[in-house]
Amino acid sequence: MTIREIEAKSILRKYKKIDSWFISRYGMNLYRGCTHNCVYCDGRAEGYYVDGEFGEDVAVKTNAIKVLHRELSPKGKRKPLGRCFIMAGGGIGDSYQPAEKDYQLTRRALQLIDGYNFPVHVLTKSTLIERDMDILGRINERNRAIVSFSFSSVDDEISAIFEPGVPPPSERLKTLARFKSEGIACGMFLLPVIPFITDTQEQIEESVRRASEAGVDFIIFSGMTLKDGRQRNYFFNVLKEHYPDLIPEYQKIYQGDRWGQASAGYYSRLNQVFDRIAKKYGMPQRIPLAVFRDILDENDLVVVILEHIHYLLKLEGVKSPFGYAAYSISQLKEPLSGMKEDLQTLKGVDKRTKGIILEILETGNSSYLERLLGVSSEKDDEMEISRDIRVNNRKLIKIQTTLNSWKKSD
Ligand code: SF4
Repeated sequence: MTIREIEAKSILRKYKKIDSWFISRYGMNLYRGCTHNCVYCDGRAEGYYVDGEFGEDVAVKTNAIKVLHRELSPKGKRKPLGRCFIMAGGGIGDSYQPAEKDYQLTRRALQLIDGYNFPVHVLTKSTLIERDMDILGRINERNRAIVSFSFSSVDDEISAIFEPGVPPPSERLKTLARFKSEGIACGMFLLPVIPFITDTQEQIEESVRRASEAGVDFIIFSGMTLKDGRQRNYFFNVLKEHYPDLIPEYQKIYQGDRWGQASAGYYSRLNQVFDRIAKKYGMPQRIPLAVFRDILDENDLVVVILEHIHYLLKLEGVKSPFGYAAYSISQLKEPLSGMKEDLQTLKGVDKRTKGIILEILETGNSSYLERLLGVSSEKDDEMEISRDIRVNNRKLIKIQTTLNSWKKSD
């Protein structure tokens, strides 16, 4: 591993609109490059302009905490940052890659996030995140934290080939279960599943079953992209060594699409398999409303719910206007509740969409989304109640400990 120390001008990446996968408007990458070196990683693609040898070299943004401090602080800003989850991870550099052991940038960033009262969502492949359970627990109590792990399968042997630099899936699942038992919302990002290797019905079902046993609250799923150039060459070299018979199958589905997409038919079959299995296990395929309903402002809440509905309909092969409506709402400056009568003047908002928006504004919920997810608000309510019980229990334990120490000092 070669480390290069660099100074960053900014740390928070502001998205054009709320990201409904992560429930976030701000992404945060403290490292550039990733020595976890997953074979399928698209950070290797030329378009990301990561300097040096991907997987071996990493740039550390040594001034990250100072810059983040300035960005999170409301001081001197006409418009402070909106309330939503700050996303750590999900870019081209795992927040808990090996360099984090020494630099502790993620730990110190979480302390700042806690100090400025923001919720956080961390996506990683490393069990090093357990080191920061104390801060994540505190953020969760005061605001909210989501801990997600990404997997390409739950098979330790296959993972050793394609994810050589990270703990095996069995360890990642144990870590998820530990965070879950602390009352923190947890998710599996089952992405990318590797074509013809971890995308089979059996492999996907095993992933969903084991995630379900670990107690995760949701699974977000996606197929693999493979861009021509460095990413494809590196992946094919490993494929040739371990699965040479699969090369022609890959050549059939990856035919040089600019974004590295496989054929639409492949993704559509895959989505149907996942959708069926997720429903069998009652597993939400998006972050459940109970996790973020009270965090977002009303416009962002509507945008996220409409995009979730759009996604779930797409999985069922149904085209919908909800994605378009969500985009036009994301561009609004004024709150939706002030324009209830004029909703249909917005691009993409028809009578049915208007009904869904009004229900969200009035109840913070969408019965249509619940039906599509195949889960009821009872599951959401259970999550809220069990979280309240855990938070109250912890408060009670703290009070008892304080009383005991007073008694002792008497
Ligand atoms: S952990 Fe994520 S960012 Fe790092 S190499 Fe693997 S896929 Fe890429």
